[in-house]
Amino acid sequence: MWELEDDAFLLMHLRMTGVLLLDPPPDAPYVRVRFVLDDGAHELRFCDPRRFGTGEIAVGTAARDAFFAARLGLEPLSGELTGAALRTMARGRHAPIKAFLLDQRRVAGVGNIYADEALFRARIHPLRPAGTLKRAQYDALAVAVRETLLAGLAAGGATIDDFRHADGVSGAFQNEFLVHRRRGEGCPVCGGEIVKFVAAGRGTYACEHCQPRPRGRRSRPRGRAAHA
Ligand SMILES: [Zn+2]
Repeated sequence: MWELEDDAFLLMHLRMTGVLLLDPPPDAPYVRVRFVLDDGAHELRFCDPRRFGTGEIAVGTAARDAFFAARLGLEPLSGELTGAALRTMARGRHAPIKAFLLDQRRVAGVGNIYADEALFRARIHPLRPAGTLKRAQYDALAVAVRETLLAGLAAGGATIDDFRHADGVSGAFQNEFLVHRRRGEGCPVCGGEIVKFVAAGRGTYACEHCQPRPRGRRSRPRGRAAHA
């Protein structure tokens, strides 16, 4: 969120591959938008190979707040995200808990990496129907989401392909992943093999010893995939 002159706000979403770079080299690729800062000496550039990034202008704080209220649910770092709040929202929901976490209108700021890492910390299988967790599991998940996001922030975010800070520096959280992108490696808790499967339409990583798979949601036998 950028505060501009005259009570206007620029609300950006970098999406998958967008980066904002301050005074990058002149040959920086994929420049989509150039912002000239008001000192006239510096330029901020929005670079985005895949062009999924978005930017919208809101005029006035009421318009800004309405924009976010329509799109973002509980803010995990504000204290709003509690086990009780999760339990209330998830009541009667059959969608996998991972899909529930990824819905920004319920919990803000949890993407694919952070969902996997939080569910592992809370020892909850990503395919568990959202409304079926035990009370203690909602509590554990609320704590795990917060801890995961704080760990990600402390490491400067995760740079898998593109993400960089405005000064061009990459994040380091990818070096601290517990399960995400670690298929075939040993679980940091039990040593069992980390597996990859699809949940909520996304590549998902878990330790199915620490995060027991819900009944009736068995892995598909490997041989069949070849026919698909
Ligand atoms: Zn494990």
